[in-house]
Amino acid sequence: MGDFTLELNDDQKAVRDWIHGFAADVMRPAAAEWDEREETPWPIIQEAAKIGLYSLDFYAQQFFDPTGLGIPMTMEELFWGDAGIALSIVGTGLAAVGVLANGTEEQIGTWVPQMYGDADDVKVAAFCSSEPDAGSDVASMRTRAVYDEAKDEWVLNGTKTWATNGGIASVHVVVAVVDPELGSKGHASFIVPPGTPGLSQGQKFKKHGIRASHTAEVVLDDVRVPGHCLLGGKDKLDERLARARERAASGEKIKNAAMATFEASRPAVGAMAVGTARAAYEYALEYATDRRQFGRPIIDNQGVAFQLADMRTQIDAARLLVWRASWMATAGRPFTAAEGSMSKLFASETAKKVTAQAIQILGGNGYTREYPVERMHRDSAIYTIFEGTSEIQRLVIARAVSGLPIR
Ligand SMILES: Cc1cc2nc3c(=O)[nH]c(=O)nc-3n(C[C@H](O)[C@H](O)[C@H](O)COP(=O)(O)OP(=O)(O)OC[C@H]3O[C@@H](n4cnc5c(N)ncnc54)[C@H](O)[C@@H]3O)c2cc1C
Repeated sequence: MGDFTLELNDDQKAVRDWIHGFAADVMRPAAAEWDEREETPWPIIQEAAKIGLYSLDFYAQQFFDPTGLGIPMTMEELFWGDAGIALSIVGTGLAAVGVLANGTEEQIGTWVPQMYGDADDVKVAAFCSSEPDAGSDVASMRTRAVYDEAKDEWVLNGTKTWATNGGIASVHVVVAVVDPELGSKGHASFIVPPGTPGLSQGQKFKKHGIRASHTAEVVLDDVRVPGHCLLGGKDKLDERLARARERAASGEKIKNAAMATFEASRPAVGAMAVGTARAAYEYALEYATDRRQFGRPIIDNQGVAFQLADMRTQIDAARLLVWRASWMATAGRPFTAAEGSMSKLFASETAKKVTAQAIQILGGNGYTREYPVERMHRDSAIYTIFEGTSEIQRLVIARAVSGLPIR
């Protein structure tokens, strides 16, 4: 036998079982309540913080797991518990990754711990990129950051939307335009520290699913942040902009660094979708075994059993794509066929399909809020939308495999 294995090692299994315990004992029983309340489940985030499941240390450990499977394994178990509560727990990670990817060591050390707070005083963070007129088309972003040299401050103005934890976060990471001539190459990310005047929450959205996760607009009205809040620092930004201007002037195509980051982060969203899909499948399997019609369990009918066979096959296939992409990211393999996007596309579409099949298998019960598969189906609709819609994933894959500028 060679070295190849798809088995988790003993440490990973122990961590997985620990997360699973929290998901089963704490998240599951609270899921319906927080879905109805449509509020951030602070007490549950706090419980997670108390046991170390909501902490920078824990996510850093999983992130640096040398097999690459730490994060997908964590996401799958948490989202198996409940997607809305899980997003409230892992939403901060999106902002933290924004700082880890672009910040200096000093910025990482200063801001990332503040994003989580501590077990007695938990905090969340928000990553604000999307705007009302810049969703899939990130390059059309309008929020401006202008440097006030005299004061060494950046002044931010604009409206962000769809921000997970927007307005309730301690630290907001805001992407803004510093050079409008350069499209997405003229963007930079800023820390907006807790309590900064001028940042306020706009509309809070009432959503179809993941209702325990707070999603809102963030309004930036002459928000002034110190120069050291520019992620990566001014010298690096100036160098990057100068390079981009030179290349734009020479007509040279610029490789989009953000795309590589997305390829590495999208499998994590795929893993969330696998978690929700698995939860619905397991529920439907048990239900089909217990429920009797025509004098026999409904699973005795091929019409039902084959649906479950397809569900399980697709979930396992989705997980394998997620694991492959996560391994590639950790091993530094190039995503020549956009394998990260592939995993997110397939897993998110699978979650939507599988949760709909679960409703069908539960019949009338599946259609009510007395049973969890209805909520799982609503929750699953987010996976084909955020972190790039399914259409955008297909666009990225099509461009990668064809080498053509497919539109
Ligand atoms: C619950 C929730 C949480 C979110 N959290 C965050 C967050 O924390 N931070 C953040 O910055 N953003 C967040 N988002 C925003 C999310 O990433 C965007 O909603 C997503 O990128 C899609 O943008 P849009 O909604 O403007 O849709 P649009 O871009 O307007 O797309 C509408 C439709 O057109 C299709 N479409 C667009 N362009 C093309 C094309 N070229 N080819 C084919 N089809 C196309 C899309 O696929 C889609 O079906 C969140 C969104 C939601 C709903």
